[in-house]
Amino acid sequence: QIQRALRSLSIPLDRLHVMKGHMIQDMCKGLSRETHAQAKVQMLPTYICSTPNGTEKGNFLVVELCQNQIRTLLVTLYGDGNMSPQMVYKIFDMPEGIRQGEGEALFDFIAQCVSQFLSETINSDSGSSEECLPLGFVFPFTCYQKQLDKAELISWSKGFSCSGVVGNDVVQLLQSAIDKQDVGGGKTSGEWLSLWRGWKSSSSQISRVQVVALMNDTVGTMMTCCTERRPCEVAMVMDKGSNCCFMAEAYLVETAEETSGRMCVNTEWGCFGDDGTLNDIITPYDECVDEESSNPGEKRFEKLVGSLYLGEIVRHALISLTTEKALFTETDIGILKEKGVFTTQHVLNIINNKDGTTEVKRVLEFLGLQPSERDCGWVQQICRAVVGRAATLHATGLAAILSYMCQTREMEKLMVNVGVEGELYQGYTRFEEILQSVSRLLSPECVATFVPSKDGSGRGAAMVTAVALRMAAQRHEVDTVLAPLRLTHADLEKVQVLMRQEMERGLGKNTHASASVHMLPTYVCHTPDGTEQGDFLALDLGGTNFRVLLVSMSEEGISMASEIYIIPPAIMQGTGEALFDHIMDCIMDFQRKQNMMLQTLPLGFTFSFPCQQVGLDKALLLTWTKGFSASGCVGKDVVHLLREAAERKQNSGLQVVALLNDTVGTMMACGYDDPKCEIGLIVGTGTNACYMEEMKNVGTVEGDEGCMCINMEWGAFGDNGCLDSILTQFDKVVDESTINPGKQSRFEKLVSGMYLGEIVRQILMVMKEKQLLFQGKSCTKLQTRNIFQTKFLSTIELSHGLALRQIRAILQELELDASFEDSMLMREVCQAVSLRAAQLCAAGLAAVVEKIRENRGLAQMSVTVGVDGTLYKLHPCFSKNLQKTLKELAPNCDVSFLLSEDGSGKGAALVAAVACRIANAMQ
Ligand code: ADP
Ligand code: MG
Repeated sequence: QIQRALRSLSIPLDRLHVMKGHMIQDMCKGLSRETHAQAKVQMLPTYICSTPNGTEKGNFLVVELCQNQIRTLLVTLYGDGNMSPQMVYKIFDMPEGIRQGEGEALFDFIAQCVSQFLSETINSDSGSSEECLPLGFVFPFTCYQKQLDKAELISWSKGFSCSGVVGNDVVQLLQSAIDKQDVGGGKTSGEWLSLWRGWKSSSSQISRVQVVALMNDTVGTMMTCCTERRPCEVAMVMDKGSNCCFMAEAYLVETAEETSGRMCVNTEWGCFGDDGTLNDIITPYDECVDEESSNPGEKRFEKLVGSLYLGEIVRHALISLTTEKALFTETDIGILKEKGVFTTQHVLNIINNKDGTTEVKRVLEFLGLQPSERDCGWVQQICRAVVGRAATLHATGLAAILSYMCQTREMEKLMVNVGVEGELYQGYTRFEEILQSVSRLLSPECVATFVPSKDGSGRGAAMVTAVALRMAAQRHEVDTVLAPLRLTHADLEKVQVLMRQEMERGLGKNTHASASVHMLPTYVCHTPDGTEQGDFLALDLGGTNFRVLLVSMSEEGISMASEIYIIPPAIMQGTGEALFDHIMDCIMDFQRKQNMMLQTLPLGFTFSFPCQQVGLDKALLLTWTKGFSASGCVGKDVVHLLREAAERKQNSGLQVVALLNDTVGTMMACGYDDPKCEIGLIVGTGTNACYMEEMKNVGTVEGDEGCMCINMEWGAFGDNGCLDSILTQFDKVVDESTINPGKQSRFEKLVSGMYLGEIVRQILMVMKEKQLLFQGKSCTKLQTRNIFQTKFLSTIELSHGLALRQIRAILQELELDASFEDSMLMREVCQAVSLRAAQLCAAGLAAVVEKIRENRGLAQMSVTVGVDGTLYKLHPCFSKNLQKTLKELAPNCDVSFLLSEDGSGKGAALVAAVACRIANAMQ
């Protein structure tokens, strides 16, 4: 019989695995907006979004409402890793009747305690009486928390039933009571005045008090267990009741609005099992305990593990076994019938005793029983089984939390500190052993280090308050640093107007020379109409590689074959003749491979260097860039240089029809699929745009008929200083470190991939200096130019708490020792920089679409933009932000975006094809 009882109290491992699964399910249920209302494990958001990092400093006041006391505490932190906080406290007994009286009286009393405490502890002569004195309020009742300092009481418990509090904001009630104290207590209800008349006035101190945070006691434990090296992100209280809290990914806490970073969730796991999931492990003894409790059927988990119940479980087991005549056969156990005689402390005394059963005997005899030697042995085993089960169940709940954290953080292995507190943990030496081994068995991927809490929830509350203030101060500073990057709608409208002005100036015959946006004519006068047919050659020079392509157009669409060729540095920097000879060798190699030596094909040449175009097939090279410096080319017609090389190599299979810029190629490639595509946009290493302009507006080219594509070269927008008012110190520093400091490519340096990483790096360095990042620790690698790549922005912004592993990989590469909050802040910086880039790009584009619309005299216009460039294509938010801003700035234009595929290849062939189509039509 005894063996059967012991077996019923031990739970097999496979059953624990199932239970862990149930716990995780219930946690998810509690976190989800849809299912939260029905969830047993409530998973309450606490709005505590950070754990202490040791830099917290200053005086913090705590007031804790307990069963029949008010505890006040003043904690002084020195920013020394919180190693040696100074603490002064005072406990006030609560007058009879206050728990059932008016709410106002309760809060007035609390305020009076605070006031009294302050007058005794803080020297009113100390000069700091101007500063606010932050207060954390420990309020151990179920609240619906909306902010750290906003919490509505859902219901009273523990014998409290003050009127006028349920449904109201408890923080507000306390703050009002405190503010009343300030005016000499004049508004305090007479009753309390007479009671506390003896208290001296301390209005100058109390007036400084501001309630900053309200919290539950479990959270306090977590906050006291953070060490300098590793934050504590889980806390378990194993006391009269049982509860656990942990730092969850904020976006998973759907019941709170916060979505970035983490938030502490108060699981309230005591109610786990209230829907029956624990029924198969509940013993008849547990049933008896539950029936005799004040809340039968509720808090089933807590009743298996809380110290309020363990003695009772043992008591019922003993009664039952005695009835079965398995125990105490020679003694009367009438004494055991009384509820509560067998306490958890008795149980702990019995099991902690190592040398035989003398202690067991002593305890049982003390209770009035006369146990035999055998009884003592059995009772000890029963007690061990009950406490062991409590430890095992705690471990199972903990394993559920650890696995959940590990999964949702996408980690392979989770290492975490777990703050622990409570009489069970402290009272039984083997408790930690069981916790450790069972949780390891159930969650082998997690390593928990148990940290016993010091000084309990009061100090924890001070830490919460301190952290809240640190976060608020940090938020303010972060906002200040990032403010110059945040552009208003008015700022963007201004940029749009300026772009429009520069466009007009660039197009004007007389103003062209001094405009920052050059508006170069391309001599491309038609976009494709989809009827283009035939085979064409295309060259692409100036991107990452040199390519030769064969593009075949038919009714079925476009097919392409291409080869990539290397241009050796010696040739890039040699003579022009050698360069173009090399290019021609590559073309002829391609022609041989494609078996087309005998054909003569029209050719389009995408040449991504600045050129002054004087005809579709005539373009003077203005300057080399991107590492090219071949002699004898600048100022020459590039098409002519290519034709000369063809002659030298006796290649008669080429008919060079057109030279174009990659922006034009992009527009043409997209135009083949969408006839409305009349704009080309590139946001890659650099940024540029082109669009179809009416010839009559193009002052720099003769003729008024039809249209022409204009290569805006908008990267240089602002080179005349017109954007200076929106530039930040970061932009200026980045500009100074480029190869073309001063005013070249002003707009490009705000928008394109080559610079965004650098801007972010500058901001990070400033934030590090201001101790906002990396706790001010040095990070040498971050000082290296271009170490922060623009592709990092994509990775960092993409992560929604999920891709944290990738962020960590980046940070490791940068040798940065970044905390979770550091990575959140880095993400915010990246977002600010990429958002501004997208918005500015949108402002430029808005000027373009509005001009096209006005050209046509339309009230409403729809148009398509062909886009290319890795930043646009791969950044997770750039395109979305660009389109959203464009809608706001150009509400009368309906703009679609079409991603270009291989614009430089396909586009070059299309320019050639369209030219041929038009030429044929004219004949
Ligand atoms: P190019 O403009 O030279 O033709 P791309 O359009 O491919 O070349 O753009 C390359 C630039 O895109 C790089 O210089 C880099 O700044 C940026 N970039 C590369 N990868 C990413 C990424 N994953 N997210 C955002 N930007 C990127
Ligand atoms: Mg490109």
